[in-house]
Amino acid sequence: MESNQTTACGAPKIEPNTSSTSSLTAAYNWFQDCCSTHTTCNLKLFSKTGWYPTRLIDIGQKESFHWRLLVVSEDGISPQSAPYMTLSYRWAPNPKPILLASNIDEFRHGKPIKDLPQTFRDFIVVARRFSIRYIWIDALCIIQDSRGDWEIEAPTMRFVYTNSICNVAASVSKSPSEGLFRSRDTDKLKMRIVPCSLYSGKEEPSYIYEDFWDKDILKAPLHKRGWVLQERILAPRVLYFGKDQIFWECLTRRKCELLPNGLPLEIPSRRDLLDQLHWAGASNSRKMSDTLYNLWIKYIEEYSQCMLTNPSDKLAAIAGIAQLFQDFTGDEYIAGLWKSRLVEMLGWNVSAPRKLKSLDYRAPSWSWASTDGDFTLRLDYEVHLPSLVNVYPHELSDRGVHTI
Ligand SMILES: [Zn+2]
Repeated sequence: MESNQTTACGAPKIEPNTSSTSSLTAAYNWFQDCCSTHTTCNLKLFSKTGWYPTRLIDIGQKESFHWRLLVVSEDGISPQSAPYMTLSYRWAPNPKPILLASNIDEFRHGKPIKDLPQTFRDFIVVARRFSIRYIWIDALCIIQDSRGDWEIEAPTMRFVYTNSICNVAASVSKSPSEGLFRSRDTDKLKMRIVPCSLYSGKEEPSYIYEDFWDKDILKAPLHKRGWVLQERILAPRVLYFGKDQIFWECLTRRKCELLPNGLPLEIPSRRDLLDQLHWAGASNSRKMSDTLYNLWIKYIEEYSQCMLTNPSDKLAAIAGIAQLFQDFTGDEYIAGLWKSRLVEMLGWNVSAPRKLKSLDYRAPSWSWASTDGDFTLRLDYEVHLPSLVNVYPHELSDRGVHTI
């Protein structure tokens, strides 16, 4: 039976490694809670019923020491509607193993798990803890020396992630050899409480809250990579393995081990995207609202700070989000810009240009996608994103803490 492990004073029990039983049990409980009780997360507005990637990795039963590549249309999966998980990670130069035209039969026959990079092996540990038998990893599921295969697979990235039951992000790892899990100093991971009268006028115990999300996720090495933005935004659920903690993000909640019932501050997130796209799709107007347009600009701003191994992927690595916008708004996507906002979008500016790694053509010169550097665009109107929600101390009272 699963249960949240806590200390005697009610605080979450933090063990010295993120691979610990209590950490993976917490992650599993978040996953189960989302799958069984979060109505919004299970609407599957962005996914495609019955869709599967061309290839998947079968990790077999818990005791299996081998993985094998499945060609889904030929090998099938069992049961027929079995879910799969995806992995967001940073590539390394000359990664091994990778799927090639020459080793596809070998991969389909089966290979030892022990020969995979540490991050892939750790990902299998998590998938097995979640009782998920199938996983998708780009290096093993796309033929890396075939331009033809890439041209078929790249446009499907949107559905690879929207149909994933949960995406695992190796946030703190700079290469596949670094693994998902980390040791941590549990003494530094204690929530502090001080008396505070800011909210109610009388002194109440309040948390000293550190912005874990910004520090451990948004500034982590993985999230500086271009492809990862859409993987994070398109997946219905993401489990992030950070330096000190595991984090959860779905369309309903954000959680971490220190705050297992939810992070105190809600900031504009993927929920806004879902709400706005749902509204645009359901309304007759099907137009690009100011809020949606502002979200697009925010994504481009964030994306422009990321790096791409292949500069030619500049538009491809964000095409999944663009397709989603296009489907729900009916607007026309033109090389990173929107037809209904073309004139205002042409006012883009790059505040810190980076030297181009390649002069190969990738977008028209009037598109921000032709440049590298921090993108900015002044908005000429007031936008109304959902405001920050103040959280009062009494709303946090059910969260376990260490006092000073
Ligand atoms: Zn959820």
